[in-house]
Amino acid sequence: MSSYDVAVIGGGAAGLSAALVLSRARRTVVVIDAGAPRNAPATHMHGFLSRDGMAPSQFLAVGRTEVVGYGAALVAGTVTDLVGAGREGFSVLLADGNRIQARRVLVTTGLRDELPAIPGLADRWAREVLHCPYCHGHEVRDQRLGVIGGTPGAARYAQIVRQWTHDLVYFTAPDLLTATERAGLVARAIGVVEGDIEQLVIDEADRPCGVQMRDGLLVPRDAIFVPPTFVPHSQLLTALGCDVDDGWVITDATGRTSVAGVWAAGNVTDPRAQVITAAGAGSAAAIALNADLVEDDVRNAVTTYHLGGCTT
Ligand SMILES: Cc1cc2nc3c(=O)[nH]c(=O)nc-3n(C[C@H](O)[C@H](O)[C@H](O)COP(=O)(O)OP(=O)(O)OC[C@H]3O[C@@H](n4cnc5c(N)ncnc54)[C@H](O)[C@@H]3O)c2cc1C
Repeated sequence: MSSYDVAVIGGGAAGLSAALVLSRARRTVVVIDAGAPRNAPATHMHGFLSRDGMAPSQFLAVGRTEVVGYGAALVAGTVTDLVGAGREGFSVLLADGNRIQARRVLVTTGLRDELPAIPGLADRWAREVLHCPYCHGHEVRDQRLGVIGGTPGAARYAQIVRQWTHDLVYFTAPDLLTATERAGLVARAIGVVEGDIEQLVIDEADRPCGVQMRDGLLVPRDAIFVPPTFVPHSQLLTALGCDVDDGWVITDATGRTSVAGVWAAGNVTDPRAQVITAAGAGSAAAIALNADLVEDDVRNAVTTYHLGGCTT
């Protein structure tokens, strides 16, 4: 069985960034990745200084080359379980039956975006159906935009999307808006359409032509913003007993969870993390992880020293 200082589970921005720092710190590192980063459906990545407009796949390919260059191992696969192995650290079990041993684990498995069940939305995800105006708002600026409301905070989200266009419509079920929300929308010339949405309509040129309401009204729109439900891929962490708050695994500022030796970073613990902040969180976790391993190394060296040996 292969054995490493750190097993990084998930090879997106957070995991690869951690692996880069750890392998440069001369730690033995394996990155196990299922190959489905969250932004894979998008053709371009924005907001990462010096990488703006790069394809997400290219960004990760460059990252993989860099970490391999420093000696990290990359394994394509899905981790199904993490089992504490006492002083040995953890056994990392893969779906293909392989098992890897590691002194520490860093979980960077990201999250899943769940869209409202409105016909047509999922098909256009990351094209004309968007969630993050900071990622893709600039690309649809000044177009006829819509926001799917009806969830807590959605009216405030519409006010943010308003930054990118003067032509914005907020769609919501009747009687959900508070008087304050309605006043804010009207004051900033955001149209309000109340009713049930039938579907997003696509025209013959394969472009969205509007939002079809159940009462027959068609509201012309070029792109739609949707606040998805964020579902963390945190099963490996919760199965180990990591403390959770409101569905999200709790970490300190460096990514340390409540379970000794287990760390987490990126979207798996922080739905707000962009690529650059997920990468930063991975880097911070790596530095703290290395310090934790150094403490372990000191303890082991002192024990060996008192037994009359010495370490190299
Ligand atoms: C459509 C879309 C467009 C976006 N555009 C932008 C943008 O332009 N700019 C920006 O800054 N942000 C953007 N984001 C947000 C961006 O995707 C995240 O900030 C970023 O992916 C978080 O990185 P991460 O490493 O935490 O997770 P991810 O990038 O999702 O990586 C997690 C990795 O872990 C793997 N994994 C999961 N479970 C397991 C397991 N059990 N075993 C092994 N591997 C596993 C996954 O397959 C995946 O490869 C966008 C998001 C979406 C949905």
